[in-house]
Amino acid sequence: MISVNKAKTIIGDNIKYLGFETILLKNAGNRVNAQDITATFPMPLFNNSAMDGFAVRAVDTKGAKKTSPIKLIMVGVSSAGIPSKIILKPGQCIQCMTGGKIPKGADSIVIVENSSGFSNSKTVEIFKEAKIGNHIRKKGEEIKQGDVIISKNTCVTPNEIGALATFGYKKISVTIRPKVAIFVTGNELVEPGDKIKLGQIYNSNLYILVELAKKSGVEIVMMETIKDDKNSLSKSLSKALKTCNIIISSGGISMGRFDYVREVYNKLGVNEHFWKVAQKPGKPLFFGTVESTLIFGLPGNPVSSFICFIEYVYPVMQELQRKKINFKHYAILTESFPAENNKHRYLFGRSWINSDGKILCAPSSKSGSHMITSSLESNCILESPPKNKNLKPGDKITINLLNWRNIE
Ligand code: AMP
Ligand code: MG
Repeated sequence: MISVNKAKTIIGDNIKYLGFETILLKNAGNRVNAQDITATFPMPLFNNSAMDGFAVRAVDTKGAKKTSPIKLIMVGVSSAGIPSKIILKPGQCIQCMTGGKIPKGADSIVIVENSSGFSNSKTVEIFKEAKIGNHIRKKGEEIKQGDVIISKNTCVTPNEIGALATFGYKKISVTIRPKVAIFVTGNELVEPGDKIKLGQIYNSNLYILVELAKKSGVEIVMMETIKDDKNSLSKSLSKALKTCNIIISSGGISMGRFDYVREVYNKLGVNEHFWKVAQKPGKPLFFGTVESTLIFGLPGNPVSSFICFIEYVYPVMQELQRKKINFKHYAILTESFPAENNKHRYLFGRSWINSDGKILCAPSSKSGSHMITSSLESNCILESPPKNKNLKPGDKITINLLNWRNIE
């Protein structure tokens, strides 16, 4: 049996990065961009108006007031997408809409509210003195051409999509998503919706693991429920070995008479790096490789499977895609935490921020590895390394935030 830290190091040492591919911007959400993205032009690309109003020479509006307006000659219109080619001369103005190019000769915008308004009349009354630069978005004021706007290895979220589209990127290079197979094993498993007989249980792990894998952004290419039968296991696993970067199984990896998964992995030539980790839940965790394919044998109890996925599989999925997000933080316990003498202890739990801005947390009161409802009111996993006494309220503990839940 090895320690949690050793297990994580071994897994880390076996990660082989995948390559890159170019994809359309519309498909780039939740992918990780492979290269620094630069501004293809200065932003804004040209001086334009921030408001609907009149492009003027500020000097021509000197002394303008509601009670003593200044009259200017209206000589044209510049709207977003349709710039005016007219060069403004003294005493003139041009109607200029938001996003419209500032005509040559103009150096300020008088907002329409400070004028007699838009009309077809040849003259306009200006009610307020303008200062040079008023309401003008200056060329390059936001970003210079060539500036890196998104550095490589950034996950593309709605924030990045907006910037990419703004600079005209139709396609970007992203990291290839790992192909993943998910198998659950057990003669007792029945699919939700089907009739259940005494002794059987509904298959929850397949649904949990698929959903978790989806959250990480990988490509799920196989998902199957397999009986505790060496031939069936062997058939499905060898098929997955041909196409997948990550294979995940649940169940059949412990000491039971019908736990064949490890034996089948070994028969198929899987290089076993470890089996059994000093942790609770999840002791029988298996990890092996075939060339660059990573194989995780998760224990069958739903909480063990869930927590082992979050602690071991999810970070690998993130790393392979080069998504670098840390979900681990320190928090202060408000209740005691049952640490173990020789094992790393994990429990689902709740974390929240108090009025002093401190992160507090409490473990779920349901501590059994079969109790999947312990996840329902949880937004994190609490963890303690081996300790010879329980942690007390007020003690510091590490929490691993579930990134689809909010800290309360
Ligand atoms: P095993 O590791 O195969 O001995 O399974 C340990 C426990 O987890 C047993 O009580 C199983 O019935 C249960 N279990 C295994 N696979 C699943 C699954 N897919 N969904 C729900 N429970 C499961
Ligand atoms: Mg089983």
